[in-house]
Amino acid sequence: MEPETAGAGRAGAVIVGAGAGRRLGGVEKAFLSVLGRPLISYAAETFERSPLVEAIALVVPLGSVERAERLVKQAGWRKVVAIVPGGAERADSVRAGLRALRACDWVLVHDAARPLVSERLIADGLAAARATGAAIAALPLRDTIKRVVAESGAAGTGRIGETVDRSNLWAAQTPQVFRRDLLERAFAHAGERAGQFTDDAALAEAAGAEVAIYAGSPENVKLTLPEDLPLVEALLRARLERDRPAEGGEPSCGEAPGGPGLAAVRAGIGYDIHRLVPGRRLILGGVVVPCELGLLGHSDGDALAHATIDALLGACGLPDIGWQFPPGDPRFRDADSLGLLREAVRRCAAAGWKPANVDATVVCERPRLAPFIREMQWRLAEALGIAPDQVSVKAKTNEGLDAIGRGEAIAAQAIMLVTRK
Ligand code: MG
Repeated sequence: MEPETAGAGRAGAVIVGAGAGRRLGGVEKAFLSVLGRPLISYAAETFERSPLVEAIALVVPLGSVERAERLVKQAGWRKVVAIVPGGAERADSVRAGLRALRACDWVLVHDAARPLVSERLIADGLAAARATGAAIAALPLRDTIKRVVAESGAAGTGRIGETVDRSNLWAAQTPQVFRRDLLERAFAHAGERAGQFTDDAALAEAAGAEVAIYAGSPENVKLTLPEDLPLVEALLRARLERDRPAEGGEPSCGEAPGGPGLAAVRAGIGYDIHRLVPGRRLILGGVVVPCELGLLGHSDGDALAHATIDALLGACGLPDIGWQFPPGDPRFRDADSLGLLREAVRRCAAAGWKPANVDATVVCERPRLAPFIREMQWRLAEALGIAPDQVSVKAKTNEGLDAIGRGEAIAAQAIMLVTRK
């Protein structure tokens, strides 16, 4: 391939998030909730936004492909051309993603666990790779490096064998950028041994390719252990604040004391409907309402709680209830929806918001809900962590019209206001 044409070629990204997250308590790492959003969404957003990237392949655990499809749809990422299940080793996952980007001349491989990748790192990587066909983000080591002789027994202990000259040592990050044919050749060269390489550059090196280094970023950290989470969240929060577009003009009453452009309040809207069927308890707002029919659902079917959760998540700009608590997930079978509401409040708190008030309407032909409204308000208020007088629940019939009017379903609507924590 001529360097000139290669330089102008199409670039695609493989975002690798296929790890099982064994060191993160078994939660699939790509979907770990970070400031209320799945970890993989941060890197995906950045590649989606970069004008230099035309296509994205997401590599996720086999059991999470559907979940990723929902996320892509909800987030509206239009560059995602494939969601592919990862393999046992990192190399298998990258290869799977690479196959999905056949139309691309250049491939950026990036770890979903590095949510702080920036458009600058993408642009610099592509520019650096043009010279040799391969380049990776890396940083020179700052710490003094010791080679340690491990003691037998206790892990993480040992004696210093020697102090290593660090002057030529760099720590590899991602993106790692390759001309696609070069990376394909590297995989072919490694064959069965591909799984032994800890990054993609090592594969290319083993195949004799020249891999350039370009300046990574100290912010571009990798989330590996549970104790990494506070640092990653702090860096993301700082970046979200920095990137928030400043609003011009006079300060308004909607502005937080924290600074210009920071909205102090936001509103969200939620809607839900469930079928009424025999053999289920009727639960609304966490209250069991005596009735010969109940609401069908994977959880307890509490349409009022679900509308409230969606209003809350919407106000905070977070993915909806179906994303947060997937209906196919066995953990949420017959789940107490007020428990889900409490968890949604925690996720919104992590994103910097707290509920202020909610107003809801339940549309229900029968039974009569009036005797239970007060208790619903109390229970919702308790789950939201606000005073009962900040929760309003109203019940209406549908005047005998449509499915709700025929007593086949119950629907609920909610509007929620949130304020900055
Ligand atoms: Mg529902």
